[in-house]
Amino acid sequence: MVEAMSRERFNHYITVAAKAADYEQGFGVKGCDLSLRHWWSAYTRQSTREQAENDRLAEYLLSSARMAKQLRVVIPWEYVIYDTESSEDLNRPGIIRLRKELIPGRHVSGVIVPFQGRLSADPLHQLTFERECVYYGVQVIYGDAPAGQDWGSQTTRLIQAQANALRVKCNRDNALAGNIARVLTGKAPAHRAPYGYIYRADKIIEARTGRAKVLRAFWEIDELGPDGEPVCESPAWAVRKFFIWIGDEGRTAYWVAHKLDELKIPPPCSISWSPKAVIKIAGRRCYTGKAEYNANGRVVNPERPLGDLTLGMKRTLVRPKPENVRVTFDVPALITEEQFLRANKNLRERGRGRGKQGKRIQALFRTRMLCPRCGKPMSILLRKKDSDQVYYYCRAHYCSWLRNPCTYSHFVPGTWDVEIWEEICTMMSSGAWLEQQLVTELSQSAHLEKLIRLEQLKVSQARLRIIKIQEGWEKGFYTPEEVQIKLTEQREAVTRAESEIVRLRGQMADRGLSAIEAELLRQELKALRDRNLQESTFDERADLIAKLGIKILPSEDLKSRKIFCRLNLAEVNEEREQASFAKVTFGGRRRIRTFDPYFIRVVL
Ligand SMILES: [Zn+2]
Repeated sequence: MVEAMSRERFNHYITVAAKAADYEQGFGVKGCDLSLRHWWSAYTRQSTREQAENDRLAEYLLSSARMAKQLRVVIPWEYVIYDTESSEDLNRPGIIRLRKELIPGRHVSGVIVPFQGRLSADPLHQLTFERECVYYGVQVIYGDAPAGQDWGSQTTRLIQAQANALRVKCNRDNALAGNIARVLTGKAPAHRAPYGYIYRADKIIEARTGRAKVLRAFWEIDELGPDGEPVCESPAWAVRKFFIWIGDEGRTAYWVAHKLDELKIPPPCSISWSPKAVIKIAGRRCYTGKAEYNANGRVVNPERPLGDLTLGMKRTLVRPKPENVRVTFDVPALITEEQFLRANKNLRERGRGRGKQGKRIQALFRTRMLCPRCGKPMSILLRKKDSDQVYYYCRAHYCSWLRNPCTYSHFVPGTWDVEIWEEICTMMSSGAWLEQQLVTELSQSAHLEKLIRLEQLKVSQARLRIIKIQEGWEKGFYTPEEVQIKLTEQREAVTRAESEIVRLRGQMADRGLSAIEAELLRQELKALRDRNLQESTFDERADLIAKLGIKILPSEDLKSRKIFCRLNLAEVNEEREQASFAKVTFGGRRRIRTFDPYFIRVVL
């Protein structure tokens, strides 16, 4: 449940709807035995904006209650599902619960949707949802569309989904056109003004229609003193200071964020200033007095991995729109055009992270040295410019704008690289160990493959038996009851074997080392070892470390460290008569073991 709709208010709506429909014994019933499967569910949705401006939830619930009464079905209180998200995709908690849990688990017999547009405004998502329901044998009933699976009903729903898509498009187009028209007639568009300004509007209520009409809309400086200058430490004052600090004094965004926090100037959102927030504000041209509307749009980040098609693509990147669709309007200026250009030039030249654009610092365990307190990969820095003194440190510790910044402030010296490499070499030089490791890995993979083949055999045998039972029934060998029992038995055997196959495949994937992968690794390790690991180049070392999946976890006092490896390095330990080692799960699904005693070494 979102913050905007409290559980109490939602419960109240359910009670009111059940009462109004005169169906208190069948809608939003508490204390139902949810292990039974004849219950129905009611689904509805409103965007947060709809909920805030024109809340219709009570009516949607009333429609659902009336439909439930008409269908003579019972909807438990737990199965009244409500989302406050847009209809753009199916990535909403309520729908996900329906599609991942209630429908495939067949915990409900049917779903009531009071209005089709509440489910989705995308024909593809509509079809996907319906097809899933048909597949699992769950009925879907709409309040405003025929529910049948015949061609006519399906087509009606498809066209209605297209019509809903048009409604969404029109709403968006109207809002955009309305704002552009406002800008062209000298009014500020209806949205919150950026940091440093306040949105103001003069409205009158037209007597005849009772509607509000905007006479004037504009931005005001937040805030001006009696002398016509921004009040000290007000947002507008801070904006001016931004451009002086960055543009004229050449300060970094990091410095500015720190300074603003020091001055206790509240940030526009979040709890403290971040360099990112500073850069965002410094990039707004409106402070020069020329504000733009429809200048930027959100686009999908092509780098982001895509998931399920029905869950939509999040538009996470802000990108400029073409010049010809933008409109400009005048606002009170806080800085000059020169100041704006100078500050942005400084930011661009400096870059956000010198490390990214400039020379890459050579560190063997980049992304592999983990912070002993928060477990995140540590960042790398040079103590002094042009020196080779590399240090690993927890960047999260220095990000004061994070909600819960890490508290680990120590630096791990780069000299660890050489020491750890030597330790790894020692492990590798034990030829018998390496061979044995890979053989074990391989034989375990082979063993799993054998188990999978065994289960596959079980499936095909059960399928054969099903055919034989059906033949036997047709020939009159069995009674219908006998057939039913025999068929259920075989079908259960198939389901069991299939889920076992899924489990075994998962186990194989978790091992992280397939037969081919292990063989390749073996060949490479051998070649490297024969060439003497100590003489290898930096890139070769980094490559080997990546292949072994090495991760380093220092202790907080930096007096010892643990080395994690995807291969079982513990064996070597036993050779050295240091048998105790801990099994640790690290970095999600991959199984990694550590071997404490050998690698505990006093550094300081
Ligand atoms: Zn940390």
